[in-house]
Amino acid sequence: MIARKHTIPVDIGGVTLGGGSPVVVQSMTNTDTADVGQTVAQVAALARAGSELVRITVDREEAAAAVPLIRAQLDKQGVDVPLVGDFHYNGHTLLADYGECAEALAKYRINPGNVGFKDKRDKQFSQIVEIALKHGKPVRIGVNWGSLDQELLTRLMDENAQSPNPKDAREVMHEAIVQSALLSAERAQALGMGADKIVLSAKVSAVQDLIAVYRMLAARSDLALHLGLTEAGMGSKGIVASSAALSVLLQEGIGDTIRISLTPEPGGDRALEVKVAQELLQSMGFRAFVPLVAACPGCGRTTSTTFQELARDIQDFIRDRMPDWKRRYPGVETLNVAVMGCIVNGPGESKHADIGISLPGTGEAPAAPVFVEGKKVTTLRGPGASAEFKQMVLDYIERRFGRDGLGRDGLDQGDLRQETSRTAAE
Ligand code: SF4
Repeated sequence: MIARKHTIPVDIGGVTLGGGSPVVVQSMTNTDTADVGQTVAQVAALARAGSELVRITVDREEAAAAVPLIRAQLDKQGVDVPLVGDFHYNGHTLLADYGECAEALAKYRINPGNVGFKDKRDKQFSQIVEIALKHGKPVRIGVNWGSLDQELLTRLMDENAQSPNPKDAREVMHEAIVQSALLSAERAQALGMGADKIVLSAKVSAVQDLIAVYRMLAARSDLALHLGLTEAGMGSKGIVASSAALSVLLQEGIGDTIRISLTPEPGGDRALEVKVAQELLQSMGFRAFVPLVAACPGCGRTTSTTFQELARDIQDFIRDRMPDWKRRYPGVETLNVAVMGCIVNGPGESKHADIGISLPGTGEAPAAPVFVEGKKVTTLRGPGASAEFKQMVLDYIERRFGRDGLGRDGLDQGDLRQETSRTAAE
């Protein structure tokens, strides 16, 4: 197992970051926070998808006034995910004027690059820290190179220009990002904030820069780290870039919480960023969230779409049932399922899974052997094979993860019949 860097643990509304705790998944809404109904709905959807912290923008008075209402409605719905407030420019006044907002939030994010300018910067930064201290809340000092402290950058650039061995401009930029985070953390600590109340982040949008900056931060500080590639982009580009950067750092034991900053497709599902974060952590073996479905990519040996359809069906089936399964079947997230396309690797891969099916490739006999814990248990044939395999997955889960009491009681014979007939009808 990869050794995690031991950072100072921070409690955020009951969720622990750092100190060797599992890497926490977080996300951010893109609704107008002043729109209570829409924000509650999106926070609840993100939490249902598995987000363990949700950040919301607090950009103006209407948004600050909405925060306690959002918290109250979420509580009423039984959604206890901690809310993090994202502040820029006016956080000091919003938090001072809206005490209920300051209280309802579990953490405040401060961007040292735009907390205030010139002589106001330190004063406004101090005001936010003092409010956080008053309410007993942690802060994230979140540097972003798009809003980097220009005074600091200019000073470091000038010093570098006068140095006998000047560094390249990129290295100076990295140093400015890291210093901005560390100096702000020192300032917060000088005001009385404990190290167990501070999380750092230093986001950039290029993979190699992110890796370099976080390695520097981790080497120079024991504070908990929030990882994320900012402005990662849309679709596969954003997913690949974020995964490439974060996986290198996580593999080195760096990072206590992650956010995948995907630009959503118009009308797309915001919860995709949560799914990607979970899949990243699970595929690296750091955490388990949902059963993994191993599927081969298919090739010229699988000319029908049956195999693709079954792989997708099984994946969707598992995701849909997970909220319920999690309650009924503790540990079910460690299940491995294989859906394979032909005899070449199908039986072998299926034997490695807890339960696997090897579908017939082109020209093979129309039969699909099913393997459970390495042993062939049956061969499925005909159009009902998909439903039968799903039922076998259900039976396996019940047998292996159903607890006496919760499992059996939760899934009584009536429920089981209902589940069976629903699955068979799909
Ligand atoms: S298991 Fe068969 S169908 Fe799947 S990629 Fe390999 S050869 Fe192709």
